[in-house]
Amino acid sequence: MRHLRHPLAEHVVACLRDRSTDPGEFRRLARRVSTLLIAEATRDLPTEPREVTTPLGVAPGLRLAGPVVAVPVLRAGLGMLEAFVELVPEAQVGYVGLERNEETAVARRYYEKVPKGIDRASVFLLDPMLATGGSAVMALRALREVGVRGVRVLSIVSAPEGIRHLEAEAPDAIVFTVAVDQGLDARKFILPGLGDFGDRLYGT
Ligand code: URA
Repeated sequence: MRHLRHPLAEHVVACLRDRSTDPGEFRRLARRVSTLLIAEATRDLPTEPREVTTPLGVAPGLRLAGPVVAVPVLRAGLGMLEAFVELVPEAQVGYVGLERNEETAVARRYYEKVPKGIDRASVFLLDPMLATGGSAVMALRALREVGVRGVRVLSIVSAPEGIRHLEAEAPDAIVFTVAVDQGLDARKFILPGLGDFGDRLYGT
């Protein structure tokens, strides 16, 4: 697990947590913190040399060497997607739809669509709340079925239980997170967390 410790990220997470933050502001904040997290998680993307001609000469440069795929977990992960495609416009996007049963907190897969060749790409799973880890593990299972390994899981707020679960079930994945909270409540919400990310994002 990589814990992003950055004052800008911590500032934004504190604002996201605030119950008085409205959906419009929540969306802007989610995008801001996602940008910081994505910058950190893409540090080791493969690059290749590429010379560029400037108005005054030739400069050495680097460009991204392999395909990149972002996979938001529907629907909360959509709150991180704009930041991703802004930072990596070359990225392709896949989707995994999971629905959490509010009584059992167990997720169900209802939609999957990923680009061809995803097994050769650097893949980033966007799942902003890593609570039990059940949905991330399920999404990783869907990706594993199409040959994807070594996924970077981008989560804004995580519970220790979720991190442990994911590391046990998918040891090849790497979790990047901004906050590691105390734990889970009886309904499997993260404490103190920020509530339901999807509801806060869309005002539902
Ligand atoms: N999903 C959320 O949106 N919030 C939580 O606290 C846990 C899961």
